[in-house]
Amino acid sequence: MTSKELKALGIEAENLGTSTGTKWFAKGELLESYSPTNGKLIAKVKCTTRKEYEKVIQEAEKAKLIWRDIPAPKRGEIVRQLGEKLRELKPVLGKLVSYEMGKSYQEGLGEVQEMIDICDFAVGLSRQLYGNTIHSERPGHRMYDQYHPLGTVGIITAFNFPVAVWSWNAALALVCGDVVVWKPSEKTPLCAVACQHIISEILKSNKLPEGISSIVTGDAEVGKWISEDERIPLVSATGSTRMGKEVATVVAKRLGKSLLELGGNNAIIVSPSADLKMTIIGAVFGAVGTAGQRCTSTRRLIIHESIYDKVKKSLVDAYKQIKIGDPLDSQNHMGPLIDNQAVKMYLDALEKIKAEGGNILTKGEVLTGKGFESGCYVRPVIAEVENHYAIVQHETFAPILYLIKYKGEVNDAIALQNGVKQGLSSAIMTNSLREAELFLSQNGSDCGIANVNIGTSGAEIGGAFGGEKDTGGGRESGSDAWKVYMRRQTNTINYTSSLPLAQGIKFDL
Ligand code: NAD
Repeated sequence: MTSKELKALGIEAENLGTSTGTKWFAKGELLESYSPTNGKLIAKVKCTTRKEYEKVIQEAEKAKLIWRDIPAPKRGEIVRQLGEKLRELKPVLGKLVSYEMGKSYQEGLGEVQEMIDICDFAVGLSRQLYGNTIHSERPGHRMYDQYHPLGTVGIITAFNFPVAVWSWNAALALVCGDVVVWKPSEKTPLCAVACQHIISEILKSNKLPEGISSIVTGDAEVGKWISEDERIPLVSATGSTRMGKEVATVVAKRLGKSLLELGGNNAIIVSPSADLKMTIIGAVFGAVGTAGQRCTSTRRLIIHESIYDKVKKSLVDAYKQIKIGDPLDSQNHMGPLIDNQAVKMYLDALEKIKAEGGNILTKGEVLTGKGFESGCYVRPVIAEVENHYAIVQHETFAPILYLIKYKGEVNDAIALQNGVKQGLSSAIMTNSLREAELFLSQNGSDCGIANVNIGTSGAEIGGAFGGEKDTGGGRESGSDAWKVYMRRQTNTINYTSSLPLAQGIKFDL
């Protein structure tokens, strides 16, 4: 990533790769952003102080009065401009995502494409924020419901989708008439700074206050200020289940709303009739893509005993082909983990698998030598386990794929798939209509996402995204997910000269 490329995103970094930091933030407590690709310091980003946070929220409070009075289709026009700018900057922003987070350049570009897609979706939505017209039980009355902006939406995001998750929330919230305050992950602050430059330029050129969309930077402490803040009616939080439980408790205490997008423990059921070529590609991409650091990463393969050995062999062979290295080099399939802490979690998980009796089929290790100086590159692992192991029940954010054998019918596989606390993404590979429909029925997968003949990883923006149980129950992105960003109001209008009461209650004076 060159200084020129960073400059295109509004980031004036000096002395890249040294510890002297950036020009644009010189003092105060600094977040250091290192690239997991090469271990180099990209830049330092100043943390928001409590005093600055107050100022940001006050600006948001002022901006919300202006923004909510702008008609929704006109708000959509601002989001359209955001989508246009993202189209222009896609190569360079995709590169920054790849460089700061460590996912492949292709996936970095894909993440920016998701931003563009949600902007397009939101532009259309800005003319479709429909309520219902309802028939009143009283003569001469009209009843309908309508949706109003909520006010300020707090957005707390995880490191693994450093730009897309903000846009899923922001694009919808903005057309809904809300203003947004974003607390990005402390592990990927530069991606957030780049997005902030993009949106603030658009707001400025339209003579709108920057308070319509702002960022606050820092660690969990800054996230807590948002959770506690009564001026923020909705907190959308994406991250670990541990974080979600803390946020939900604090927000609920003040009777705020929270939209939670938390951890997954996603499985693919491989039935006897599965197309094995599709299964292997779907499973390998799902397990090693983004180095196993997607909330929808494939963590478990639940394979019928009749094809177990065949699938196992094909997977082990496929893993031998995986090229690990700089994610900006398109030859490589898998880049690094985000940081040394993630590497430690990966190594700890391998020990736990062995301690519980699991059988590791492809050796896990941290790679060293030329190109691996950051210490964040690891080998992806396949392990034979049982579903009830504590480590299998836990979401390890690393490229570890568990193989679990099932006997009997598809219902037995579904019971294993549902037998974890998380409920985000699930899939079945089958050519049996009966099995596919059972999997999708009310007695089937208990996840927010259930796919047939597609892996667990990734999703299109047109559907509502999210999951059940420990995944938090929130829905973002497409379908009618927009409704959570608005407050619903039921209106009844009496155009007669009498006052009949509902339920026929008599009250005469
Ligand atoms: P994390 O929970 O460590 O941090 C996420 C964000 O929450 C960060 O910005 C962090 O500063 C903030 N935070 C942490 N504790 C907080 C608290 N008590 N109050 C307020 N804010 C707090 O998660 P991570 O390691 O960045 O991301 C990985 C996790 O995110 C995985 O569990 C993954 O499955 C999940 N994730 C879920 C989805 C989804 O849509 N379901 C999407 C992406 C990531």
